[in-house]
Amino acid sequence: MKQGKAVVVFSGGQDSTTCLFWAKERYEEVVAVTFDYGQRHRLEIDCAKEITKELGIAHHMLDMSLLNQLAPNALTRGNIPVQDGENGELPSTFVPGRNLLFLSFAGVLAKQIGAKHIVTGVCETDFSGYPDCRDIFIKSLNVTLNLSMDDTFVIETPLMWLNKAQTWELADQLGALEFVREKTLTCYNGIKADGCGECPACKLRKRGLDEYLNSKVES
Ligand code: ZN
Repeated sequence: MKQGKAVVVFSGGQDSTTCLFWAKERYEEVVAVTFDYGQRHRLEIDCAKEITKELGIAHHMLDMSLLNQLAPNALTRGNIPVQDGENGELPSTFVPGRNLLFLSFAGVLAKQIGAKHIVTGVCETDFSGYPDCRDIFIKSLNVTLNLSMDDTFVIETPLMWLNKAQTWELADQLGALEFVREKTLTCYNGIKADGCGECPACKLRKRGLDEYLNSKVES
């Protein structure tokens, strides 16, 4: 039986769209929240709008331009190249404090609308060194949110221990594999669905999808 109300932190990408389907199965009412922080690709926001409209999910857009102002980065500035981190450094796509801020604002929204569950697609498995994707960070923030608002929120992270292939498998189990494949944007070059095929995000996405589809054929 479905229970309660959930806020899903939603970017329009593969992971958060899978989380949206996961939440739809689980909760009576699902609300999506997208943060506009001057993303390199406005198409990301358009994808998020289209997806929530198609699924009939209430959608909040919150202005987070402050984050862009504070943290120039490859995702927020067209002139900074997307690069993998070298010598233990973080990739140029890292936005410091992003999940801290997003989840805090999602918590405030949850408080306002009486939702107890906050769902996020963060994942520690394909860890590219982002400290705020770690399980320990989420658990710590969960305690902080509850103390800050004297409430009993639960931050749900359905993808935390899944690799990319397993995330595709979850989408498939939720009957959403084709939907996620066609309607989401992961590509750093702003190309929907299967993307440019060249950037780190596309390579990771494709590798996971191929791995999952191959395992499906074998079994
Ligand atoms: Zn790409």
